[in-house]
Amino acid sequence: MNEKYPRMNELEQRLTYPFGEALPDPGKTLEVAPGIKWIRMSLPFVLNHINLWLLRDNIDGREGWTAVDCCISHDASRHPWEQVIAGELEGLPILRVLVTHMHPDHVGMAHWLCERFGAPLWMSATDYHVARLASQTTTGFGGEGAASFFASHGLSDPDSLEKIRNRANYYPNLVPDVPRSYHRLMDGYVVHIGGRQWRCISGYGHAPEHIALYSEQGHVLIGGDMMLPRISTNVSVYETEPEADSLRLFLESIDRFSPLPEDTLTLPAHGKPFRGLHERIKQLQDHHRDRLAEVMEACAIKPCSGADILPIMFKRELDLHQTTFAMGESVAHLHALWYQGKLRRTVDAHGVLRFSA
Ligand SMILES: [Zn+2]
Repeated sequence: MNEKYPRMNELEQRLTYPFGEALPDPGKTLEVAPGIKWIRMSLPFVLNHINLWLLRDNIDGREGWTAVDCCISHDASRHPWEQVIAGELEGLPILRVLVTHMHPDHVGMAHWLCERFGAPLWMSATDYHVARLASQTTTGFGGEGAASFFASHGLSDPDSLEKIRNRANYYPNLVPDVPRSYHRLMDGYVVHIGGRQWRCISGYGHAPEHIALYSEQGHVLIGGDMMLPRISTNVSVYETEPEADSLRLFLESIDRFSPLPEDTLTLPAHGKPFRGLHERIKQLQDHHRDRLAEVMEACAIKPCSGADILPIMFKRELDLHQTTFAMGESVAHLHALWYQGKLRRTVDAHGVLRFSA
């Protein structure tokens, strides 16, 4: 995810934030609804924090908590977790660890938490298996495959390609292990947590099979990365599925939140809890429609690769990490137009793909 457009700040003012500027202190929680506590942990990235949730639970007659999402695995997240465990659980254990999707900031500490409490991991099958595979290999993701994927979309700077080639251990560094078994979550599945029912809503285009959770009691949505108030969710094409139509999948997925009530309290993985779900869905639809129009315009002037689209979609300096996300987003927008039949794809003698109107 990237903070892309200053105008987002103006847009986010159209949402309401029931807790104002309040944030939970490090290692502390803030109750956002009965039995739902907000934890905020810092991340060593441009995106500098993640929100995690503690839901009061009761499983098989035992009182305790379900933790939703976990932060990346590093010492800096172990310490705040220790503080939360010591001071915020009311002396009760974590009974279940529920993870919205396989990205390192969500699943990284799941292994540690599950092991510590003997708690099961609940997750979608797709994301569980991708996380397990990615955590146990330094060759299956990133590395050479990623470098040639980016090269085929026009990234030609040898220094950047070399760095991408050498980044194959990125995922296992942040997610060194994943529990050996799990409980499968699927779209429409209802999870009983404490006295509440939470309905799983699958979402695509950001992660293989992201699970958001909606509770009719008090109209609460745990949105994960699918519904963020400030930044637009990263929607990328990756080397493992180089012809994915991720943007179409994402836009179809956020449509699925439209039937939820207007007064839904959305608990996002990044940023502040907010109301204004329908306004936010519309903002995201507008955002991608505008980006698609820009991409279409550029491709009408000359055939464009993913790299050619970067300065059009991202009007600021990008570091390498941001460049890889941005390339993935450029390709996602090109693919959406290509699958709609609005762009034609050609490949040149060097294997670079270009799209023209
Ligand atoms: Zn994510």
